[in-house]
Amino acid sequence: MKYISTRGKSPELNFCDVLLGGLAPDGGLYLPKAYPKFTKNDLDLMRSMSYQDLAFSIFDKFIDDIPADDLMEIINKTYTADVFGYNRPNQNPDDITPTLKLKDNLYLLSLSNGPTLAFKDIAMQFLGHIFEYVLAKKNKTLNILGATSGDTGPAAEYAMKGKKGINVFMLSPYGTMSPFQAAQMFSLGDENIYNIAVKGVFDDCQDIVKAVSNDLHFKEDNNIGAVNSINWGRILAQIVYYFKGYLAVTKDSKEVVDFTVPTGNFGNICAGHIARMMGLPIRKLVVATNENDVLDEFFQTGKYYPRTSENTFQTSSPSMDISKASNFERFIFDLIGRDSSVLRSYWQQIDNGRSFELNKEIMGKVLDFGFTSSSSKHKNRINLIKKFYDEYDVIIDTHTADGVKASIDHLSEDTPMLVLETALPIKFEKSVFEAIGKRPVRPDALVDLEKIDQRFEVFDNKTSSVKDFILANNII
Ligand SMILES: *Cc1c(COP(=O)(O)O)cnc(C)c1O
Repeated sequence: MKYISTRGKSPELNFCDVLLGGLAPDGGLYLPKAYPKFTKNDLDLMRSMSYQDLAFSIFDKFIDDIPADDLMEIINKTYTADVFGYNRPNQNPDDITPTLKLKDNLYLLSLSNGPTLAFKDIAMQFLGHIFEYVLAKKNKTLNILGATSGDTGPAAEYAMKGKKGINVFMLSPYGTMSPFQAAQMFSLGDENIYNIAVKGVFDDCQDIVKAVSNDLHFKEDNNIGAVNSINWGRILAQIVYYFKGYLAVTKDSKEVVDFTVPTGNFGNICAGHIARMMGLPIRKLVVATNENDVLDEFFQTGKYYPRTSENTFQTSSPSMDISKASNFERFIFDLIGRDSSVLRSYWQQIDNGRSFELNKEIMGKVLDFGFTSSSSKHKNRINLIKKFYDEYDVIIDTHTADGVKASIDHLSEDTPMLVLETALPIKFEKSVFEAIGKRPVRPDALVDLEKIDQRFEVFDNKTSSVKDFILANNII
């Protein structure tokens, strides 16, 4: 399988090179040259598979530069019941991403049973193992530089801690993460993890990462790598649970299902789109946004108008407070029939801080791709957290509540709807308390998380200080 850039001006690459490379040199995102297809018959054969075998049968179609035995070993190391073990009562930890039936044709797909209690662990844990493997093969090292507003950082650090050949430098805005999120990162004692709290906001952290990555000499000399959501390995790992969820709620591979996905950078739902292109019988893919509703606006009007950071609201589902969805380019590329020159003209607008609008004819095709959308507000989330607690005795987090709101807008009686649970409520105790007047129970291991010693550096908002720190602590 070869990979091509959405912008059409980069060399075709194999999987391992795409995995370590991040953005394509022409500024585009890598996608497989063609999507492998699964037939109804293939789906029938998948019904009896474990999560690990299912992952292998999907990854195997996208990866041809890692021997099958090695790939299977990486998968088996990644997806264990031990690592993905924080399950709700009556869920089987061997399922890795179990489903929870709420009522007829409405399900949660539990994706947040990993070490940091958000769905990002599913892809990040895989990256941790496959990075270590590929780096050892190529005799290379990697200094991962990232910025986090709260969920990506912990998931990346738990996945990379103790991995050979990898150091992590994670920037976060000083004093703004939830106490739980801060404790998740800052309590890690591993020598290859460096937490840098920047006196500024998330966008300042992101700008420093961009400034460092744009210094090509520094980037090359210091083997700087990224694990942000455009990484193809992350999308690939997320395709698996769409299959797992589909197989869990259907008996016959002729049946169709709907998925609703709480969306920020469009990474998660992009994996759903690819699963659908591979032949998984998905009828609707519902994009759920919060008050930051740029994507909802696009699906309603055809106008894609990313907002500036001053016009991005801080909400009670903070991991979706994004107004420029980096993976959206991948979907638009498919929507316009993979025409790179047209795509380049759109993103020239976007990269210059402007917008683009698609005509009715192209927007008509959005339906052929199954996409639709809805947005929600704080009040919707709080009401739904309470309603689900009262009716089903299930506590959901604020992001999942955004999903639930959108799923209700698009629910139909005859088709199963799976809402992706993107985080556990423990991570967002404050809003849960506001909704139901009590805090979700923590697993024993996390009861005293905030009391563990914390280790982090506090820096002024200056790229040069971060560079100096990397120079002094990098792994070469
Ligand atoms: C990252 C995140 C999202 C958004 O996912 P995307 O892949 O960026 O669309 C939604 N919910 C939670 C809890 C997250 O951490």
